[in-house]
Amino acid sequence: MCSPPNYPVFDFYQNLNQFYGVLAECCTQQSCPSMAAGPNLNYTWINQDRKSVQLPAPTYIDYVMTWVQNLLDDENVFPTKSGRDFSPNFPSTVKHVYRQLLRVFAHLYHAHYTQILHLRSEGHFNSLFAHFLAFGKEYELLDVKDIKGQPGAPVGVGALWEKWKEMGILES
Ligand SMILES: [Zn+2]
Repeated sequence: MCSPPNYPVFDFYQNLNQFYGVLAECCTQQSCPSMAAGPNLNYTWINQDRKSVQLPAPTYIDYVMTWVQNLLDDENVFPTKSGRDFSPNFPSTVKHVYRQLLRVFAHLYHAHYTQILHLRSEGHFNSLFAHFLAFGKEYELLDVKDIKGQPGAPVGVGALWEKWKEMGILES
């Protein structure tokens, strides 16, 4: 018997994974050779040697999703049984998960929003993202710089911030 952890991170992950599953055929090594979320914004993956490497978006997202799934399946990280304590690392782990999931959202908004519109899924997708942000904000899982980027630097989700504001997803 395995019951899903009663924790919203699990839902965010599952929903995002489902969206990605639908969009995956449009997100290929050819269409998305890097994990881009803007014209000058490419996320890099930190590999096992602690080196940051450029990966095609589908590979990057696959790594993120597999990594998060493994964490969610790990009873020591995300305890599902009552009476089990969360590890002291739990807050930083969730924050790390949040940052990576945010990057997936950012890539989908940047590279695949047309397809989301085409599927008429924008309502569901935008509301998922709005919940993700609201929860992250409430529990301080998001650094503003992750969302807005540092001034002048193409980090975070940079230009998307303005787009999200225009779309009414973000509060100003
Ligand atoms: Zn893509």
